[in-house]
Amino acid sequence: MLELLFLLLPVAMGYGWFMGRNSVKQSDHSAKQDLSIKYSTGLNYLLSNQQDKAIEYLLETLKVEDDTVEAHFAMANLFRKRGELDRALKVHEHLVRQKQLPAQAKQQAAFELGKDFLSAGLYDRAEAMFHKLLKSKQFSLKSLTYLLQIYQSTKDWHHGLELKKAIEKTKDKKLLHTLANFYCELATLALSQDQFIEVIELLENALKCDPNSCRANWLLAKIYENHQQYNEACQCYKDIYSQDQEFFPDVIEQMANCYHQLDADDEFYQFIKKVYDETGGSSALIKYLSFVEQKYSPSKAQDFMLSAIKRRPTIRGFKHFIKMQINEPEQDNENLEMIKELISAYLNVKQRYNCRSCGFSSSTHYWSCPSCHDWEQLKPVRGLEGE
Ligand SMILES: [Zn+2]
Repeated sequence: MLELLFLLLPVAMGYGWFMGRNSVKQSDHSAKQDLSIKYSTGLNYLLSNQQDKAIEYLLETLKVEDDTVEAHFAMANLFRKRGELDRALKVHEHLVRQKQLPAQAKQQAAFELGKDFLSAGLYDRAEAMFHKLLKSKQFSLKSLTYLLQIYQSTKDWHHGLELKKAIEKTKDKKLLHTLANFYCELATLALSQDQFIEVIELLENALKCDPNSCRANWLLAKIYENHQQYNEACQCYKDIYSQDQEFFPDVIEQMANCYHQLDADDEFYQFIKKVYDETGGSSALIKYLSFVEQKYSPSKAQDFMLSAIKRRPTIRGFKHFIKMQINEPEQDNENLEMIKELISAYLNVKQRYNCRSCGFSSSTHYWSCPSCHDWEQLKPVRGLEGE
């Protein structure tokens, strides 16, 4: 509570000086005396650790004026930082009730109150506060961000999409990206109910919001594949590669299958060779090697693998190299099998994905990070233990 005390002491001094400077009449003098009694009582409560009584006294004593409004915000934010939400709420609600405050301070008070409600899990009240601020120049973008956060937590995708026009006006890429994922959530739901026309419409809307949405292309590819429209599916996978090289390893198998259905394996392997040359990824390398092995010879594939490991060593690459050795007739397979099993066990305990925003790791893929809630940030791990 010491921080609060130090915060309020200068305010008290400033306020006393302000009152002293302005009060020349006797009636003002007695008001000032009354004020200083209330103020010192408030500070006494604070010092004796009776914080709720102190707040009540201080709110009553410290009239909200241009000079003191910042102190009120600072005091409430301090409470919120300490997790004392009921106290932060009390101060912000007090500020919101002040009719004489300038418009900007009023909006800030409403915004901070919305944040208090959100922290307290009172989503409907937070939602109402942020909605009030959608026309505010200073707070509309921040309010939209919090509103989408609320709708994401409550999986209320439809209400989120109602904000589309307001979000489009801001041209904020992160908000548009979030909106695209709201469309993808609805598309996934529609897909599970076999409503294909709705799915396509939803995904087209997703791509309008964010033309770089990998997830929308991934879902489109899935639908095209299910309908045996392999050319269209292949195009979606190519788009995913141009949109997000780091996510691409997760679609290599599906892409290979689509090209195979089109009887265009060679074309696929040319593409995957290009991917390997550009990214050095181990999934692309392993896929390409199976082609070299079939088209040319196992020894040519091994030579390629050896130079690849030297160029960019990864444990997955090394495991594949051991696997290739096992297939050699004169090798001691028992020992190699043991090494391979050991590497497999090691890789199995490693997480396949990590979040590029917050570093959260997981063996399962999520479109929204369970830790920071950012969309499409969980991607295959890079480096020695990953791609
Ligand atoms: Zn994250």
